[in-house]
Amino acid sequence: MQRPQHYSARLLEKRFLNERETYLHVQFNCTPLNPDLPQYPGHTPGQYATFLLSEQDRRSYSFASVYSGDSTVDFVVEILENGIGSHRMATMEIGDTIEGIMPYGRFTYQNDETIRHHVVIGTGSGIVPLKPILEYGLQISTEQRFTLVWGLRYESDLFWVDEFRRLEEQYRQFRAMITITKPTETWQGLTGRVTEHLPALLTEVADTCVYLCGGHAMIHDARTLAGDCGIEKKRIITEQFY
Ligand SMILES: Cc1cc2nc3c(=O)[nH]c(=O)nc-3n(C[C@H](O)[C@H](O)[C@H](O)COP(=O)(O)OP(=O)(O)OC[C@H]3O[C@@H](n4cnc5c(N)ncnc54)[C@H](O)[C@@H]3O)c2cc1C
Repeated sequence: MQRPQHYSARLLEKRFLNERETYLHVQFNCTPLNPDLPQYPGHTPGQYATFLLSEQDRRSYSFASVYSGDSTVDFVVEILENGIGSHRMATMEIGDTIEGIMPYGRFTYQNDETIRHHVVIGTGSGIVPLKPILEYGLQISTEQRFTLVWGLRYESDLFWVDEFRRLEEQYRQFRAMITITKPTETWQGLTGRVTEHLPALLTEVADTCVYLCGGHAMIHDARTLAGDCGIEKKRIITEQFY
């Protein structure tokens, strides 16, 4: 893995991904602050960057895609009312710069051939590192199964659904399950919390690896449930966002 370095990140593009305008996609070009360092050398799917908002405030955001091979990086930021990081990202103009340190993190694809099933669970913005982890894992492993369970409150928060359906078509060993806790009457998909759908997936426990990403409460509940189902501690990996 690369050592984290300081970069000046210049905003290239930004756009909302969902109907309710709660998820903002931002793309930056990174230039090392130390001119002696080489161009951005890349990240591992699942890693993140930390942005320096002010002397005392920093916020971390997971890379939203696999390393592109150049110095562009992209993120998806959940825009929270009165959120400090949310406000900064939402008000940046194209061409503005922000200092970021990257890449960090060990929440990455578990490249282990004894794993037969990767069960990848996220709530809300927790989907962000999971998508590149899935894309990378599916590319390098044809024998292993991958199941995504993504939980959100509202259908109007959904984004990337077409990408997940495309991945399902491309890789028959991949299945995406999306569950909504406050569905409208017209929602025809799964409902309820992610944890309600887990026991049915955690059957071949000896060969399963569970990835959890999102808020504290979901991680706590899902970790306990996975442990109770018989998943070994070392096969439950987590990234807690808040
Ligand atoms: C390793 C790591 C990777 C992360 N990756 C991402 C990412 O890819 N995309 C992303 O949007 N965020 C990500 N986060 C979370 C992010 O760093 C911020 O903490 C979060 O977006 C809130 O920041 P804010 O400054 O906008 O709100 P703040 O000013 O910190 O908080 C506003 C209020 O919202 C609450 N809160 C914080 N986060 C959430 C949430 N997600 N849902 C509901 N309430 C919340 C806080 O407790 C507080 O009360 C990541 C966090 C970590 C540690």
